[in-house]
Amino acid sequence: MAKDDYYELLGVAKGATEEELKKAYRKKAVQYHPDKNPGNKEAEEMFKKISHAYEVLKDPEKRAAYDRYGAAAFEGGGAGVPRGAGGMGGGFHDPFDIFREVFGQQQGGGIFDEMFGGGGRDAGRDGSDLRYDLEITLEEAARGAEKEISFRKHAACERCDGSGAEPGSKRVTCPTCRGAGQIRRSGGIITFTQPCPTCGGMGTKVEKPCTACRGEGRVVRSTKLNVRIPPGVDTGSRLRSTGNGEAGLAGGHPGDLYIVLSVKEHELFERQEDNLFCEIPIKFTLATLGGTIEVPTLFGKASLKIPSGTQSGTTFRLREKGMPSLRGGRQGDQLVRVHVEVPQSLTAEQRKLLEEFARVSGDASEPTSKTFFEKAKKFF
Ligand SMILES: [Zn+2]
Ligand SMILES: [Zn+2]
Repeated sequence: MAKDDYYELLGVAKGATEEELKKAYRKKAVQYHPDKNPGNKEAEEMFKKISHAYEVLKDPEKRAAYDRYGAAAFEGGGAGVPRGAGGMGGGFHDPFDIFREVFGQQQGGGIFDEMFGGGGRDAGRDGSDLRYDLEITLEEAARGAEKEISFRKHAACERCDGSGAEPGSKRVTCPTCRGAGQIRRSGGIITFTQPCPTCGGMGTKVEKPCTACRGEGRVVRSTKLNVRIPPGVDTGSRLRSTGNGEAGLAGGHPGDLYIVLSVKEHELFERQEDNLFCEIPIKFTLATLGGTIEVPTLFGKASLKIPSGTQSGTTFRLREKGMPSLRGGRQGDQLVRVHVEVPQSLTAEQRKLLEEFARVSGDASEPTSKTFFEKAKKFF
């Protein structure tokens, strides 16, 4: 996508005005819209490209950045993050949003159907997208989880099946606008159009409104949903649940639900990208003599070999015991920093043995202390 010239894609000159851009985009968007090219992957790709190009160029700030830096200015962020299966990624971009913006909101009637020859689509308006903030634990982020969430939203009315029409009655062409979704008014020499007040721009109205939803086709209801969280997510990760946003109006398509995750702080582990850090206390005898300890990880216990003579502050790496990679790469590591503990109280026997140890050790004989005392000599 990056290599295409946005102006070329839209077929306009570099100095094109906003109006020229919009006009060019309208023309191309209609030409490549998936509804006009069912099953045509190339057209779909092209539709996405021109939508993206227009989205950038219509915004004066983005356009200035594009003119200076090219498409590179809009890379990074969510780029390269897989979508679909897990539905992840920052900066999601829906080419239909920009399409709707340019062509108006109504997808079933009015302008839209006029543009595409009318018919063939459900009446109604699409529902909006919803956002749900979900807090999860680090364990859940590491292993993946299934969570049940519940929230209130506009859901399709059960009585009329979302159509807005009382069972037995139908939707009929709006008598005010005769299906156009907009009406023309003239004031002197100027003629202007506005959305039809009777049908709200839909072009159709119900013969007899449903008694449960008063013709809206949707009612506010609390909804439960199971969400699958893939392993490796982090604070800010977004999951997209297609079609689980607000129900559409009178038969329109439902919006999507975006679940925005935040991962709680953990009492043992600190996360840095895909690596986990933890600090573990060890006895000074173990540090001196060496041995093996059991270390907690997010995936159960792991054994860690402590070599004899280990100094406090030494960090060990447990390979692939960190966070799984969301992008399918290598799993992170767990880094264990050991902290050597000096006993705070001694039994008489321990004291006797340590004093004996000190006596046979003589003066500073440890390598680190040796160099320290050599450096310190000149101060004495
Ligand atoms: Zn209803
Ligand atoms: Zn109307």
